[in-house]
Amino acid sequence: MSGGDNLDFEIRPNPAPVSDADRAVLLANPGFGRIFTDHMVTVRYADGKGWYEPRVEARAPIPMDPASAVLHYAQEIFEGLKAYTLPDGGVAMFRPDANAARFNLSAQRMAMPSLPVETFVQSLHEIIKIDRSWIPEDPEGSLYLRPFAYASEVFLGVRPATEYLYLVIASPVGPYFSGGVKPVSIWVSSDFTRAAPGGTGAAKCGGNYAAGLSAQAEAAEHGCDQVVYLDAVQRKYIDELGGMNVFLVLDDGTLVTPPLTGTILPGITRDSVIKLAQRAGRTVEERPISLEEWRDGAASGRVREAFACGTAAVITPIGVIKSEAGDFTMGDGGPGDTTMSIRKNLVDIQRGRAEDPFGWVH
Ligand code: PMP
Repeated sequence: MSGGDNLDFEIRPNPAPVSDADRAVLLANPGFGRIFTDHMVTVRYADGKGWYEPRVEARAPIPMDPASAVLHYAQEIFEGLKAYTLPDGGVAMFRPDANAARFNLSAQRMAMPSLPVETFVQSLHEIIKIDRSWIPEDPEGSLYLRPFAYASEVFLGVRPATEYLYLVIASPVGPYFSGGVKPVSIWVSSDFTRAAPGGTGAAKCGGNYAAGLSAQAEAAEHGCDQVVYLDAVQRKYIDELGGMNVFLVLDDGTLVTPPLTGTILPGITRDSVIKLAQRAGRTVEERPISLEEWRDGAASGRVREAFACGTAAVITPIGVIKSEAGDFTMGDGGPGDTTMSIRKNLVDIQRGRAEDPFGWVH
């Protein structure tokens, strides 16, 4: 596994960037994940050489040999975070060092070389600097940054590759909720699980998401926005949603969330919610939550609210929970007060509208 010093990025500006007028049209209604900026970051890796040729260059297709290891054995990891404008006109990211740390944990699990945290964070700065005009002016919009790395070695043997490519691409996105925060409906999958003990659940690797697509389709067939996974061993405890972690709010204000035992993604939003809640004097329990506890608690009033959290939507109230055994909601299924106040607290810190007690905003 390679470490190494910080790298000097060679900047090769895109000779044919999108015109100001065309960019304005694209930014008026960016949606999610379809529009990309003019540049990308690339850094190569080879065993014995470490990370080399750090570049900022025109975004373009990457030539790929059909025998590239990633296409066969899926040695690939990624991250996702946002850059956005602050009220003072500056540009910020939220806890990019935490994404760097998680990227390296994913790398370790997938037998890939680690990338120095400074290089990861610098690569984000580089793309933001050169593509700053792509950050939507909408105070709720952002530039979604997608750092990722994959096995580029041309070899069909099943072993960790000896060559990798790290890239960062950037995509302007509009507000997640236009027209007000809306609860998500979730489907409890009884057919599919996401991650078993000893598996790759805690890594942000593409394969986890490929394996989740059928479950997500099943949720959609049942009219739900997201799937919620149960643990793979007993099919009893809540793990997480397809792309978000879960919290329950109890009637005494306690927050409960499943523990990080290796089968769920250690969300940076999850960690931020826990730290802010504890700082505010709220009790937070990281412990297994059975579906039964959730359902019974919703009926008795013990579980007052539930929410999902992740980079994309920050915090989303959970409305109806559907499963083969029937549906339930907490209260009237609308956004709860505690959920909305935690959401406001976190979003205000991210957007520079409130004190940042942990120094999270870069
Ligand atoms: N779980 C999964 C499976 C995810 O894909 C994500 C999104 N990265 C999360 C949880 C939330 O993580 P974060 O708060 O770091 O975005």
